[in-house]
Amino acid sequence: MASFVSDIDPVARGEVIRRGFLDSLPDRLGRMAAAFEMPPAEGRALLLDLLHALVGSAGTFRLSHLADAGRKLEGLLCKTAAGQSLSDTALTAAFRRLERAVAHVLAADPSELPSLVMPAPRKGRDTLTGHALIYYLEDDVEQARQLVSQLEPYDFHLVPFQEPAAFMRAVRIAPPDALLVDVMCGSSLMAGPDTISALTEEGIHLPTIFLSARGDFKARLQAVRAGGSGYMTKPVDTVALVERLDEQIGRSTTKPYRVLIVDDETEAAEQYAEAIRTAGMEPLIVNEPEETVEAIRAFGPDILLLDVNMPGCGGLELAALLRQHEGLLSLPILFITASAPEEMRSPALHLGAADFLRKPFALDSLADEVLARVRRARQLHALMARDSLTAVLNHGALQEQLTMEVARSARDGKQLSFAMIDIDLFKRINDDHGHAVGDRVLKALARLLQQRLRRTDIIGRYGGEEFAIILPGTPAEAAVTLLDKLRQDFAGIRFKGNEALGVGFNVSFSAGVAELREGLDLPSLNLAADSALYFAKRSGRNRVHLNGSLTGSL
Ligand code: GH3
Ligand code: MG
Ligand code: MG
Repeated sequence: MASFVSDIDPVARGEVIRRGFLDSLPDRLGRMAAAFEMPPAEGRALLLDLLHALVGSAGTFRLSHLADAGRKLEGLLCKTAAGQSLSDTALTAAFRRLERAVAHVLAADPSELPSLVMPAPRKGRDTLTGHALIYYLEDDVEQARQLVSQLEPYDFHLVPFQEPAAFMRAVRIAPPDALLVDVMCGSSLMAGPDTISALTEEGIHLPTIFLSARGDFKARLQAVRAGGSGYMTKPVDTVALVERLDEQIGRSTTKPYRVLIVDDETEAAEQYAEAIRTAGMEPLIVNEPEETVEAIRAFGPDILLLDVNMPGCGGLELAALLRQHEGLLSLPILFITASAPEEMRSPALHLGAADFLRKPFALDSLADEVLARVRRARQLHALMARDSLTAVLNHGALQEQLTMEVARSARDGKQLSFAMIDIDLFKRINDDHGHAVGDRVLKALARLLQQRLRRTDIIGRYGGEEFAIILPGTPAEAAVTLLDKLRQDFAGIRFKGNEALGVGFNVSFSAGVAELREGLDLPSLNLAADSALYFAKRSGRNRVHLNGSLTGSL
């Protein structure tokens, strides 16, 4: 078994990844030096992005000197005005300090570097830190400014360029996640597609979306020929653009799979857990079979990994016992056994979604077996639990999650906030712009919530234009601050509506927040958030209210 463990040893894995980071440092420094020499209007934003990535990675790899030097320069850059020259003495000194920090790290003996245990790798982008970098070629400064601020709430960081030459240079130096290109940029009719064609000829292929005032066939054809992966007409529908960009860069908003391991042998369980973690899933170990039901309720696993041979209560008995609980009938179980599968099959088949893995096995094959089953189970469950319009949880599924999270918070003594959101005067939007436009607004809000909340937060559609959010581990004040930021950002989104009514429209929402307190049960928590929402509506809409502060209205 030991040979498998070394294959996935997290320390060794961390060292390999850190080595890769160290190897990339000269190149990163070169790009930053180039950005430092660019005209400030283009170089500053680029340099900030490069620094941001560097500081983040340096921190992860515990290279604190380097992270500090990067942060110092970042701080100075943020303080200089947008148009100000980058080469003044303080900035130059900070840049030299960064260069020295890089040189120092590169010269160090690997054994001198702090030891490292890498966190589990995650599939897809993290919604918390995964803010996507987009270069935007647009000669109309005002349009560029508007789109930059419209996409910011969705964690898209747009860096605008007015000149194709500067745009191309930046793409070569520090390739972003995607490109957004105005077709008719500057003097030439096809400046946008020409720029992309030129990059393609250099072997640079990035997801590219063209924006154009022209929607005719010829214009689209030119864009496709230039290698565009999307084409949208102006004025841009922000929501559709966000969907398109998400598709292109494959940004994922799914939570990690949870695996509950029930095994009386601590060491074996730890090994399984490590393999599960390395594959990007979240394990929890239970050594006592009696604790299984409680652990399932609190942890909400996607699958159960069950040892067949346990003293006291065997795996098969335990499974039969679990199936007696309503709600646990469909939880997939993977049994681990040393016996031949044939011997186990018949009694276990009666237990429903169950399968066997025979010892000994390689730990990475364990992860594969678990992943395959868990993906399928998630898909099935997602189909049943999701709202078909917005893809967030439906009312029933959200209440189910709330029950579980409330129990978990009570047990761990952790805080939990619950929020209800209701779109303001939504009926009028349907009346003015039609039901389809109303649906777009609902989708936009759901998407904004999904992108901005943490992976552990849970979002549901409560009813027509009402959403609810569970924020585990979040005190009420923090939840209010978070929702208020979301409220402002949502209110800033410009929707494309009924053409006859003019350029577009904005929508707001009201929200009520309640905190789980000692002795508060599920119905009271629901009621508390609902009362806060009602109060927010009554006091003028487009605001967030915390339940505790409005006892008078209850
Ligand atoms: P308030 O600010 O007081 O919440 O006003 P409101 O107009 O948002 O509230 P009201 O509850 O009167 O209207 C909600 C509207 O939401 C009525 C209904 O037609 C619409 N609605 C509900 N579900 C959907 C849906 O799935 N799609 C669309 N487009 N509209 C929906
Ligand atoms: Mg409403
Ligand atoms: Mg309503």
